[in-house]
Amino acid sequence: MNKFMTTGEMKRRVLVVDDEMINRELLGAMLSQTFDIAFASNGKEAMEALTAPEADYSLILLDLLMPIMNGFEVIEQCQSDEHLRQIPIIVMTSEKSAEVRSIRMGAADFITKPYDMPEVILARCERIIELSEGKSIIRLTERDKVSGLYTRGYFFAYLQRLITRINTPMDALVLNIDRFHLVNELFGREEGDTVLSNFGQLIAELLNDIHGIACRSESDTFFIFCERQDSYDDMIESLQEKLSDLTKARALRLRAGIYSCENESDHPEVWFSRAKAACDRIRGRYGSLTARYSNELYERTVFHERLIGDVQEAIDRHHLVVYFQPKYRIQGDRPVLGSAEALIRWIHPELGFISPGEFIPLFENNGLIRKVDHFVWREAAAQVKRWRDQYGITIPVSVNVSRVDIFDPELEQKLCDILEESALEPDDMMLEITESAYSDSADGSVEVVNRLRDRGFKIEMDDFGSGYSSLNMLTEIPFDVLKLDMQFIRRMLLDDKSLRLVELIMDIARYLEIPVIAEGVEEIEQLNKLKEMGCDIVQGYYFSPPLPADRFSGLIEKECQNRREEHDND
Ligand code: C2E
Ligand code: MG
Ligand code: MG
Repeated sequence: MNKFMTTGEMKRRVLVVDDEMINRELLGAMLSQTFDIAFASNGKEAMEALTAPEADYSLILLDLLMPIMNGFEVIEQCQSDEHLRQIPIIVMTSEKSAEVRSIRMGAADFITKPYDMPEVILARCERIIELSEGKSIIRLTERDKVSGLYTRGYFFAYLQRLITRINTPMDALVLNIDRFHLVNELFGREEGDTVLSNFGQLIAELLNDIHGIACRSESDTFFIFCERQDSYDDMIESLQEKLSDLTKARALRLRAGIYSCENESDHPEVWFSRAKAACDRIRGRYGSLTARYSNELYERTVFHERLIGDVQEAIDRHHLVVYFQPKYRIQGDRPVLGSAEALIRWIHPELGFISPGEFIPLFENNGLIRKVDHFVWREAAAQVKRWRDQYGITIPVSVNVSRVDIFDPELEQKLCDILEESALEPDDMMLEITESAYSDSADGSVEVVNRLRDRGFKIEMDDFGSGYSSLNMLTEIPFDVLKLDMQFIRRMLLDDKSLRLVELIMDIARYLEIPVIAEGVEEIEQLNKLKEMGCDIVQGYYFSPPLPADRFSGLIEKECQNRREEHDND
């Protein structure tokens, strides 16, 4: 009877409530092949069975006239309970008037006594269950319009019902298409939808073989819940091949994370978040299409939880410290210390040094980055003021503004308040926004950046060339300074193509009258080449790594001394 799922033994549970033993036995005999039957001999016992912790009934067959507590009272109590109201009731009666009354009270159907045609009764029970299951999950939209698979909401509602009846080992799979946004960008949204629709069809075709159900969770992420397979490598590889045939966008790549559902008390959402964690692990890693949730990943998750838990204390106790890396202007006779970048460091009392590469992406995912960045901005501004008071010169500091901050409606206000606190001008605190923040959400971010520029803030486009930006981005997006990604500098002297690309970007920037900062300069050869090409500003280990404020002060003193000497020589 189960048209919903092809997996395992999953009989629906039916509660038969009748005070007469013979009736209970008769109904039991008719229905027990199809359903898992429980019995109660009066209303009170029925209510006890229905409210027991493990109760999961799909249907109640209810006699009306019973001692202790009759059927009407059962209907009434069920109707007044939000959960029990969802279970359909078929009343069993021989009285016409009682039929009408019970239907009015909320019963779904009735069966007349004596029970003569077992197949009719069975069919009625099945139909009522189908109707009610349809009704309770139909309230959720069942199908995702684009992929034709279930929607996420329906998928989980359905899964909840399913898992109580499954006794074979199951797996949760999360599938993601890397760089899917390229299809939309290169060929338009319509093409994107077509690819997703065909891909949904490919997944649907698989489901019969692996005995599973599937949904599209969001944009290019799909969930599958299926019987455990020995390996998914062939399946995902073949999906990947078929996916490549669906579109001209060559860079698409499929990856899958797998979690073997072990602990039944976990919520299914937890299974899928683990499968997703495994899937995220192989983002951008060529050669591995599938990954399983592992102990290592579990430990990583625990580590991340720890960081999330510790962040407030880290701020309060100054375990989070702002370091400063100098930026030098290189076009004059000697490199001149012009500004600095504020970079956060976490010196954890128990875990030791934690790289921002570890916790920044984590905090970007859960929004904590706003708190951390706000702290960094305030510290940086206060430091600029201290140096100004101490040395009489202003070293403007650039702070990193995460893509998440851009959508903080209070961003502008927060920044302005910070300037006011330290009596700084917008010129004294520049904002670094990573290139990919623009391409992720082009429209919204441009507006925000424009407003910030109207306030007088200077915007540096960070990591330019690291993502999938095109050169015309340079003319379309508002910014004041371009920070060339480190990878360019690294490759520049190793291959000619990279060198020419850097030259080209320099030419365009010069034409647009935008200064260029080169990041990650480590060697004198790189510095000389950049200077020759007309690069304005350089940041990198060649000059100095990021330093704590007191050590950075040494660089300022040196700069002051140089300036004094130059002044004396003039
Ligand atoms: P970024 O903004 O592009 O910062 C430059 C990174 O390059 C820094 O890494 C810096 O230490 C490193 N670096 C500088 N010169 C050299 C060099 O010559 N060679 C090499 N190999 N590396 C160099 P760091 O401090 O580990 O920060 C990594 C990223 O974390 C930053 O990249 C930035 O995106 C993010 N980040 C750091 N601090 C903050 C913060 O306060 N807020 C936000 N939102 N992000 C931050
Ligand atoms: Mg930066
Ligand atoms: Mg950078």
